[in-house]
Amino acid sequence: MNQPTNNLAVVSNNTFEATKAVNLQHYDISSALQTTLEFHELIQIFSSKIQELVPHNGFIYTNTEFDLAIQNGIQTKSSCSYALKVEDQDLGELKLLRTTQFNAQELNLLETLLCCLIYPLRNATLYKQALQMALTDTLTQTNNRAAFDDSIKRETTLAIRHANNLSLIFVDIDHFKAVNDTYGHDCGDLALKAVAKCIKQSIRACDIAYRYGGEEFVILLSDTNLDGAQLLAERIRTNIECHSLAYGMELVKLTASLGVSTLKDNDSIESFIKRADDAMYQAKASGRNTVMLAN
Ligand code: GH3
Ligand code: MG
Ligand code: MG
Repeated sequence: MNQPTNNLAVVSNNTFEATKAVNLQHYDISSALQTTLEFHELIQIFSSKIQELVPHNGFIYTNTEFDLAIQNGIQTKSSCSYALKVEDQDLGELKLLRTTQFNAQELNLLETLLCCLIYPLRNATLYKQALQMALTDTLTQTNNRAAFDDSIKRETTLAIRHANNLSLIFVDIDHFKAVNDTYGHDCGDLALKAVAKCIKQSIRACDIAYRYGGEEFVILLSDTNLDGAQLLAERIRTNIECHSLAYGMELVKLTASLGVSTLKDNDSIESFIKRADDAMYQAKASGRNTVMLAN
C-alpha cells in the first residue's frame, strides 16, 4: 500500500502494476461469470476464481425468492456474509467459510471482487423469473399447460426407470359456464382462483397442480398409487364443495368432477392422460361432484 507523504499520495509503477493486476483479475472473473445463467454454476465459478486471492474452505449461497441453498464445504468457525443487492433488488446472500478468520485486507478485496458477481446474478435472476413466468398461469398462479407437458414427460420417464408409482388427477369445474352467465366473467375468474387455491391447499408440497386449460386442472402425483390418488382426489372434491365464494352480496357454490389414473406398464403419455380424462367424463355422466377411477 502506498503511504501518503506530506499529504501527497505516491503513485509509482508499483501502483500501476498492482492496479493492472487487480483489473486483470476482475476481467478474468467477469469473463468467466458471463458463461452461464445458472446460480449453481455462477457461485461455483466465483468461488474457484477468487480462491487464490481470498482463500476459503467453502461457501453457502441462499436465495429465498427461488428457494435456493447452495453449499460447498462444511460449516467452519469463521465466515463472512454478504447480502447481495442491485438497485434494491435482492440477489441472495453469500457466506464464505474458513477455518481461520478473514483479515481486513482480504475483506476489502472480497468486497471489490463481489462487484463482479452482482450483475451476472441479476441476469440469472431475470432469466429465472422469465422462465417461471413462461410456465405460470397468470390468473390462478398455478403452473400452466406448457409446464405440465414438460413435467409429465420427465415424471413418466423417471417412474418407468425406477418402477415407481405415478398418478394423475383431472379436475373439471361443474357447470362453470353457468357461473359466467349468471354472475359475469369477473366472478368466473375469481371462481377459478378459488378452485386453484382449494387444490393447492389439498395437496402435498411434492405434488404439483397445473391449469390444463379453461376450467380444468390436473395434479401430477409422484410415488402415489391409485388408492392414494383417490384419497387426495376426494379431499380436493370435498374442499371445493365446502368452499363458498363471496361475490358482492352472493355466495357462489362450486363443485367439480374428478378423474384419476395411475401409470400402467403399457401406457404412453397420451393413454395415461386419456384414461384420467375419460374417468372425469364418467364422473360428469354419473351426476357430477364425484371422483371416478380409471380402469
Ligand atoms: P360441465 O359441468 O359439463 O363441465 O360444464 P361447464 O359449463 O363447466 O363446461 P363448458 O365446457 O360448457 O364451459 C366451460 C366454460 O369455462 C366456458 C368458458 O367460457 C369458461 N372459461 C374458460 N376459461 C375461462 C377463464 O379464464 N375465465 C372465465 N371467467 N371463464 C372461463
Ligand atoms: Mg371442461
Ligand atoms: Mg366444466
